[in-house]
Amino acid sequence: MNRNWSIARRFFYVSLILIVFQSLASIFISNQLWQHFAARSLKDLVTRNLDHPLNIVDNKLDQWTVEQAVDCCEQDDYRFLLDGMTFADRKTVMISGAAGLVPVQGALKSYSIEQLEFYAELVLAASDRFAIASWGTPEAVAIKSVKLTGGDQTGSLIFVRPIYSMELYVTLNNVKAVSELVLMVSLALLLAITLIVIFQPLRKLRTKFVGIQLDDLDRATIQLESQPLEVLPILREFNYMVARLREASTNQKQFASTISHEFRTPLTVVAGFIQSVLNRADDLKPQFREALTVADQEAFRLNRMLSDLLDLSRADNHQLKILQEPFAVRATCLQALRLARAAFSNPMDDSLQCAAELEAIGDPDRLVQCLENLIGNAVKYSEPEAPIRLELEVEDGYVVVTVVDHGQGIPSDQQERIFERFQRADGVTLRRGQTSSGLGLSIVKMLVEGMGGSLRVQSELGVGSRFSIVLDMVQK
Ligand code: ADP
Repeated sequence: MNRNWSIARRFFYVSLILIVFQSLASIFISNQLWQHFAARSLKDLVTRNLDHPLNIVDNKLDQWTVEQAVDCCEQDDYRFLLDGMTFADRKTVMISGAAGLVPVQGALKSYSIEQLEFYAELVLAASDRFAIASWGTPEAVAIKSVKLTGGDQTGSLIFVRPIYSMELYVTLNNVKAVSELVLMVSLALLLAITLIVIFQPLRKLRTKFVGIQLDDLDRATIQLESQPLEVLPILREFNYMVARLREASTNQKQFASTISHEFRTPLTVVAGFIQSVLNRADDLKPQFREALTVADQEAFRLNRMLSDLLDLSRADNHQLKILQEPFAVRATCLQALRLARAAFSNPMDDSLQCAAELEAIGDPDRLVQCLENLIGNAVKYSEPEAPIRLELEVEDGYVVVTVVDHGQGIPSDQQERIFERFQRADGVTLRRGQTSSGLGLSIVKMLVEGMGGSLRVQSELGVGSRFSIVLDMVQK
């Protein structure tokens, strides 16, 4: 049995087996009983039927002279013994003995001689000299034989009568089998419906569980009032676990927010000193200048990471302010491009000229932050000096800003998870000296969604990637 089958499925199959077993047993038992009673009453009936022809034959045998009895028996003798008997309704008699088989006159209108021979053979072989047989049709016959007085030569008198009720019996049996089947199917359906109804609360719970978001644990607690008694202990434990998770999550967010804040102030001071030394001290030895430049870059990177963390923790606490108002997209993109050109040496082109008047709904500063992030990734995951392109277009009433690179590309099965926090695509590698936190895209997604837009990716391994920010367009 499959170990992962649900309780409902197990219960359904076990019950189904029981129903089928019960139905088959009932068909078998009633069949046996019917056959037993039918056979008994038929046997009594044909035994009684045989009395009359037997009397006639016995009387004739009694009247025979000794010579006649000694000469007995030829087929003519059998005919003589049966002479004068007539039967209606396909009832018939015959004598079967050492001289062969002779049926009563008129018997061959209803039966063939092979058929009668078959019946005779059957009944004479039966221990109680009674048999029920059919000749290839459902219309069966009951057969009874009695040994006539005398030796083998006198033979046996055999009575054959059709069982007209046999057809009825077969029909009855069929009706019974069909009704059992219908009952079986109805029971199975009823069982399935019952199970669906019984397990409905569990399905509702499952839907609720599926909808639980880690960043929205406030709504994860399950109301216990209308839940079935059986699952109450499990749900209580679940609610307790949610409460603890919520507490841990709040602490963690608080911690991230505090740490980011606390780190930022000393870091700004350190970065400020480095900058002022670099700007003012002209007589710095080249190796000191180089070391300070590296320190300056690292301080910048650390500052950026702290801003990202702070943004995330503010968003988690619903404190992040993101504008949703009309702004000039082209000017914002140009600003992002200017910053990117200053930061990276890769060739960058754009298709911004055709969109002079375009306005979108969102937050221009946040869009610059997003584009910086996407362009940073485009540079990071492409060959050094690989070209980057910034496209701006209108698509079905939306403004679409796309950063295009010709870098490593992202495996298709990873393209969803890269938008989650701290997730990196397997198979995408970093060049020496590059670092990655796995936070950038989750922040871009959060910011874009905060502007009422959406973020999408098209990427092919070895060909490159297109990250698009889709924003509502201001209709003029
Ligand atoms: P980070 O770049 O700091 O790891 P991101 O959230 O910005 O974090 O990106 C998540 C992952 O997505 C990266 O680790 C990388 O595997 C993949 N990725 C992002 N941008 C690109 C790109 N332009 N080309 C290839 N892979 C990318």
